[in-house]
Amino acid sequence: PKYVYDFTEGNKDLKDLLGGKGANLAEMTNLGLPVPPGFTITTDACRSFLADAAFPDGLEEEISEHLAALEARMGRRLGQADDPLLVSVRSGAAFSMPGMMETVLNIGLNDDSVRGLAKQAGGNERFAWDSYRRLIQMFGKTVQGIDGELFDDALEELKDGRADLDLQAADFQRLVATYKDIVRAQTGEDFPADPHRQMNMAVRAVFESWNAPRAVLYRRQERIPADLGTAVNVCSMVFGNCGMDSGTGVAFTRDPGTGHQGVYGDYLQNAQGEDVVAGIRNTMSLQELEGIDKPVYDELLRIMDTLENHYRDLCDIEFTVERGKLWMLQTRVGKRTAGAAFRIAVQLVDQGVIDLDEAVTRVSGDQLAQLMFPRFAKDTGGTVIAKGMNASPGAAVGKAVFCTERAVELAGRGEAVILVRRETNPDDLAGMIAAQGVLTSRGGKTSHAAVVARGMGKTCVCGAEELEVSTRERRFTAPGGVVVSEGDVISIDGSSGLVYLGEVPVVPSPVVEYFEGTGDLDDELVRAVDRIMSHADARRRLQVRANADNAEDAARARRFGAQGIGLCRTEHMFLGERRQLVEDLVLASSDEERERALAALEPLQRADFTEIFQAMAGLPVTIRLIDPPLHEFLPDYTELAVKVALAGDAAEEKDRRLLAAVKRLHEQNPMLGLRGVRLGLVIPGLFAMQVRAIADAAAAVPGARAEIMIPLVGAVQELEHVRDEARRILAEAGVEALVGTMIEVPRAALTAGQIAEAAEFFSFGTNDLTQMTWGFSRDDVEAAFFSKYLELGVFGVSPFETLDRDGVGRLVALAAEEGRRTRPDLKLGICGEHGGDPASVHFCHQVGLDYVSCSPFRIPVARLEAARAAL
Ligand code: ADP
Ligand code: MG
Ligand code: MG
Repeated sequence: PKYVYDFTEGNKDLKDLLGGKGANLAEMTNLGLPVPPGFTITTDACRSFLADAAFPDGLEEEISEHLAALEARMGRRLGQADDPLLVSVRSGAAFSMPGMMETVLNIGLNDDSVRGLAKQAGGNERFAWDSYRRLIQMFGKTVQGIDGELFDDALEELKDGRADLDLQAADFQRLVATYKDIVRAQTGEDFPADPHRQMNMAVRAVFESWNAPRAVLYRRQERIPADLGTAVNVCSMVFGNCGMDSGTGVAFTRDPGTGHQGVYGDYLQNAQGEDVVAGIRNTMSLQELEGIDKPVYDELLRIMDTLENHYRDLCDIEFTVERGKLWMLQTRVGKRTAGAAFRIAVQLVDQGVIDLDEAVTRVSGDQLAQLMFPRFAKDTGGTVIAKGMNASPGAAVGKAVFCTERAVELAGRGEAVILVRRETNPDDLAGMIAAQGVLTSRGGKTSHAAVVARGMGKTCVCGAEELEVSTRERRFTAPGGVVVSEGDVISIDGSSGLVYLGEVPVVPSPVVEYFEGTGDLDDELVRAVDRIMSHADARRRLQVRANADNAEDAARARRFGAQGIGLCRTEHMFLGERRQLVEDLVLASSDEERERALAALEPLQRADFTEIFQAMAGLPVTIRLIDPPLHEFLPDYTELAVKVALAGDAAEEKDRRLLAAVKRLHEQNPMLGLRGVRLGLVIPGLFAMQVRAIADAAAAVPGARAEIMIPLVGAVQELEHVRDEARRILAEAGVEALVGTMIEVPRAALTAGQIAEAAEFFSFGTNDLTQMTWGFSRDDVEAAFFSKYLELGVFGVSPFETLDRDGVGRLVALAAEEGRRTRPDLKLGICGEHGGDPASVHFCHQVGLDYVSCSPFRIPVARLEAARAAL
């Protein structure tokens, strides 16, 4: 295979092979934009290297050939003493993993070539020695695994309070010597002077960084597969650190927070690489760049325009200016906040860049869900102690913590925390994941904290410069002498950038109010959501229903766009004051007593169903007959036993009988015990009473459309008994209703062809189906070992969250197919938690279900994802 591609050979569609960075460097090269020449080593090569712990055959030669070609083109050799070619070695996977992987700049410098570099730069010794010390620092840290603080501390000591721009050539020269000492002390060897060895070691280190702990953690968090590998880009160096007419910057073609068009970015003069995002000095805005170098600024804007038109989306870019000449070092379709995603999609439609179909694919259910979170009330009266930048929206309240370890520790105890840092770096990732929100005192909207938080959908306020953060003392001070110490509660607003002391109350989001029908249609975000949702509804094939057990939820579900109820659980109607009636039912010792108990329950059930039918009139309502084990409705055995024992002879007869019944009904494994259809077959009259209540309620509400659903069926014979009785009762009441079943026991899925003979619809109960297919008790195992399983990669996400396609999914697909073979008009739906999970909704679309059913708040998410699945 071909392992190395010149930038002129690739293109943006080769992301899997060249990584995002490599593919887009190639795309920009081919667009004729100024990209420093270079080449990309493929992810294939990385995978092969990781499997064999060695370069695959031929890779070494291929790299040499491409390097030779690059040298010929540039007219200098790598590390050539009198005029060195220098390169960067940059990681870049198919998915952007901000800060996760390693990049080394200035490869090719050593004690000889540093002088050549200075000479070629017109005697700029300061620049050459600054570049050299950066190489040793980055190489030492990322390739040789030396603690970066050793280098940072040496630099701080040398600076001795001076600004970095005040350092002179001699300072950097001294720093190089110190850095070399550090390398020797830490590795037992001299810093490698041979340029080819430097490059080779760096390439290996990039490959290996794929499996660095924080990369593994990030992938798990973002659900990126673990076996993709990274590409490596070797790119000839351009220098932003060779004077004040040079610099480096980052920019967005639109505001990633609001989507508004304009010029957004940060620029730092006389700086290299990540100095901009690291917050070493305060950056200037691009407007200020216009003031100091108009030609560069104009060209940058032209290029941003070219990129946005070419990618037809918001792009973010990295660029460097070397003595007045602009170079492009990276671009990609940029991350954005959830609100900006909706706004940008609609803005691009209005500009005629994309159509509405594409706009729907540009937003996601997860983003919509984020917009439905509550936010802080406008006039909160809370005490504002600072204002930073609104880097990632949301309202977060929690205890201030100042390091990752504490964030993880407190969050592990179930406490809400806000991670407060001067600035974050990749080592803070675990803390950011654990925290409700992130607050920094340094850095702009392109800082590490901002980029990573936006990617995770986590609330972030960055660059709150009035705050003095002391990590060591675990506290920060705000203007006016306010001191916040570890454990004090603060609230941060990622939409306004405001930081509050104490806990601030939250209010519903405008998007939720829009779905409720009370929203402000003048709001730009609400209008964008409205347009996208209307188009999504026109495009989806899957219907969306709600899981709702009472009239209030049913009404809300309807407002949120539900096209029916897919799961109405009747057992909730047996709780509270009605417990007594259930006790009477269980205690009944004669037919007469039992019938009396059922007769008392019936009008209550009828009234429940009537209300729900009224709320949903005209739309189908699937009612599941009672499902859980009866003992769930009875008193606790131990408590009752103690009560009876204490009362001694005086114990009431009723309590004694109840105790005996509870004992009789006790099961070791109730989820696999007497529940669902089994209960219906064992307790005469129970299901009949429920069906009668449904029938009478339906008869009383014009337009009511009842669907009666039998739970936990494993064999068609079970269903036949219940169905026959139900049909008889419905006929007596003169009511038409479908009778169908849940498919939630693996045997039901496997015998779906037979079951469909007796069922007019199937609804996949994927909670139980997952539990029984894996043999996991869903109430117990998640806490017990799922984190271990996720760590070991047994699964990438809990199968209770996202439907397990390989196992449970096969049962669903099989049952759907065989059920429809028996009964072509069999209606198919899903009513487990998966019905509101984006990936699972796509699966349901693919296997041809008619609808998904989910909790009311997930309905908009399911509507959107159903459309995305169809497009
Ligand atoms: P990341 O994926 O973390 O953004 P990059 O590979 O983009 O890492 O590189 C880190 C920094 O170094 C960026 O600011 C980038 O623009 C800069 N950089 C990378 N290669 C070069 C180069 N050849 N010349 C100048 N700067 C470079
Ligand atoms: Mg980086
Ligand atoms: Mg970059």
